[in-house]
Amino acid sequence: MKAPKKNKFINAELCTHCGYCLPICPTYSILNDETHSPRGRVSIILALSRGELTPDEASTALSTCLACRACHSACPVGVRPAKLALSVRNKSPIVTPLLSRFLHTITNSHSITSYISRVISWYQNSGLQGFIRGSRVLHLIPPLRRIEGMIPALRKEPIPQLPIKGAEKNAKTKAALLCGCMARLFHPRVAPSTANLLQLLDIEVTLMDGFGCCGAPFRESGNREAFIKQAQKTLDAFVDISEVDMVICDTSVCMVTVRSYARALASDKKYAETAKIFSEKVHSLELLLAEGLPNVIPEGFTPPDSSVTFQDHCQIQHGLGGKKEPRELIKKFAGSLTELPRGERCCGAGGDYMLRYQELSHKIREDKLAAIHQSGAKTVVGSNSGCLINIEAGLLQDKSSVQVRHLSEVLWQSLSKG
Ligand code: SF4
Ligand code: SF4
Repeated sequence: MKAPKKNKFINAELCTHCGYCLPICPTYSILNDETHSPRGRVSIILALSRGELTPDEASTALSTCLACRACHSACPVGVRPAKLALSVRNKSPIVTPLLSRFLHTITNSHSITSYISRVISWYQNSGLQGFIRGSRVLHLIPPLRRIEGMIPALRKEPIPQLPIKGAEKNAKTKAALLCGCMARLFHPRVAPSTANLLQLLDIEVTLMDGFGCCGAPFRESGNREAFIKQAQKTLDAFVDISEVDMVICDTSVCMVTVRSYARALASDKKYAETAKIFSEKVHSLELLLAEGLPNVIPEGFTPPDSSVTFQDHCQIQHGLGGKKEPRELIKKFAGSLTELPRGERCCGAGGDYMLRYQELSHKIREDKLAAIHQSGAKTVVGSNSGCLINIEAGLLQDKSSVQVRHLSEVLWQSLSKG
């Protein structure tokens, strides 16, 4: 006898409608409408499972969910509204905005990203950025204004040199460094800083090219076909995966995404085995640095006298764990740590959510910006490019002097000076 078909939305049936998840949900806080709350989303999913809604109707109703997973941490009975919403999106993907598709076209080619990154650097250094931002010309072309608003302000610090290959003293470990596409485009200091930090741990680093985007935006919007394609493209960038001992991503969302390749490609005859080996080799950069750096930095090293706060990536803090390590690293090597009020809240970036629901995303961001100002920190540090781009754009708009940096940047800057 065939086993009865398992209801994939069974987790939704556990919901007791207690409402503990409501105050933590950013979309509910702004819209104040049950449909846009975790509890409301669970009801939508139950309606879908009863056949009262079609997958397309349910997917549209659920599309405002940021997939931040804060409700997962809040729910006392283990309901997973974001995961449920994502499983509906996998059946009926939400439409990718035009701007997002444009950005993806750029970031999906390593050579185009490198070229555009140089153009951005010229745009910042030539003074054109200051001139354009001072004028109101971009108000005439809103899509361009949105993309231009993602470009960080000109920074004084030079871009660190990449470590000289083979300069590690006793390198027994070989790592492939996958630099996130948005970091490659907007944060050119991140990859060399990360590579230098890894070399301090005597890890031989190969900066990977030949791949584009890891597929994170497609995974989150439910476009499985496109996600699988990106996963295969990333794996194709490796000549032989057995040649490296570990894979490191400098952006949190990429780490989460590439770790999921093994499951996503499990039934793919050509890629399943490589994907499994690859995913097992993905290490957390923060964990590696938190374990290794204290052993190689001489005792007596004093971190700079600056007040720093850390912005957690949602998927890390509401699922995978890993809040402790970046904080330890900051306190030991990058300054005095001050916590963000309401730090468990999403900043509103949510991958291409900030382009899809710009107004709502900005309203969610306002609370994050207020929390940053309340904290009194002079620098916001994070490990996820999307969050950093979103927060910096908001701070620049507010003409705030608070700086935004990637964890690798502040660590390398401090250690290379020390
Ligand atoms: S999802 Fe969890 S926290 Fe939210 S109403 Fe249902 S049981 Fe309560
Ligand atoms: S994932 Fe975030 S936005 Fe979506 S329901 Fe949960 S708390 Fe709300």
